Amino acid sequence: MNPHRLLITGGAGFIGSNFVHYWIKNNPTSYVIVLDALTYAGNRTNLAELESKGSIRFVHGDIRDQRKVEALLREGKIDTIVHFAAESHVDRSILGPDPFLETNVMGTHVLLKAAKNIWLDPQYAPEEHRFHHISTDEVYGSLAAGDPAFTEDTPYRPNSPYAASKAASDHIVRAYHHTYGLDITISNCSNNYGPYHFPEKLIPLMIINLLNGRELPIYGDGRNVRDWLHVEDHCQAIERILRSGVSGETYNIGGNSEYSNLDMVNMLCSEMDARFKRNEDLRKRFVLAPAARGEKSSSLIRFVKDRPGHDFRYAIDASKIRNLLGFIPGHTINEGIGQTMDWFLDNESWWKHLVESSPSGMDITIQT
Ligand code: NAD
Repeated sequence: MNPHRLLITGGAGFIGSNFVHYWIKNNPTSYVIVLDALTYAGNRTNLAELESKGSIRFVHGDIRDQRKVEALLREGKIDTIVHFAAESHVDRSILGPDPFLETNVMGTHVLLKAAKNIWLDPQYAPEEHRFHHISTDEVYGSLAAGDPAFTEDTPYRPNSPYAASKAASDHIVRAYHHTYGLDITISNCSNNYGPYHFPEKLIPLMIINLLNGRELPIYGDGRNVRDWLHVEDHCQAIERILRSGVSGETYNIGGNSEYSNLDMVNMLCSEMDARFKRNEDLRKRFVLAPAARGEKSSSLIRFVKDRPGHDFRYAIDASKIRNLLGFIPGHTINEGIGQTMDWFLDNESWWKHLVESSPSGMDITIQT
């Protein structure tokens, strides 16, 4: 389809705000409404530049507010929903699953009801419509070291409350296509990294702790494996699905870039050491960093008690989206990690107040 008038939910979060920037850059004549509840993870300043130029309309609101969503769809003549809004942090879902069920399951259902009411009503129906649901590889469960990667046909076996809530939402989205004929697509993506990544997640947490001379907490023995994808590549994949994806279909998105947590943290440490070595300004700005004293950043690594039910490995077989929609990630892991690190170094004010407003820093590793 040709998406022209978009409602983007969760557009003030990490991936959502990257997608809004990506979309406006590549589709400047589109009409875009961002609907976001601004939870702890939402940050309106991510979109400040676009808002000030009038490139988007920001609506502060909850996806569970059906009347509001219906009004936005009707009055904005929306033809496309890209649904990012979610509770997204596995550790938080272990400490308190309720908001995960409320937003990820019930919230997604409210959006679907609103979309059905407006888009399937001949009075308001746009020529074509699409509900694109952003999901995760975690719905497929955990792999052992030599297992083949997840395909779109891998049975769902979610292990954490987060993954279970996303799995439930995927099923409801699919059911609205099968039962009511709503035009939908779903994508299940691997771990993202890049600009605007909220500092509680592994890569930004490690970068910021390295700079502040704080410990780098790694669960268990650090051998758990994740497949990493630069967030811009995720955005590119979503655009391909919106334009050429087939209604009712699911697409796996991955970076073909598997790293153990320990290898990833070591990569961040050596990238940081190299930057401090060649840049005196960094040594002056971040005096608490071991690299400022010529010491190795990796001296901060600490292994902590493992997360309960910690999935060992995720890996995505992305051949469907590659073969059918021509998706190839544009970033290599080394270049993407380097660019991300430079973004955090250049945008200290963005993360500093987030970290300072959290009394124990951003480390919420589960201590059970
Ligand atoms: P995030 O936590 O950074 O952002 C979530 C956004 O949703 C925030 O802006 C928040 O304010 C908003 N939100 C939360 N509850 C809301 C509600 N009830 N109503 C309206 N807005 C609400 O998350 P993220 O990492 O950007 O993830 C975005 C989506 O991508 C999620 O659906 C997540 O499951 C999925 N995903 C994430 C990754 C990843 O690596 N981060 C990988 C695969 C899939």
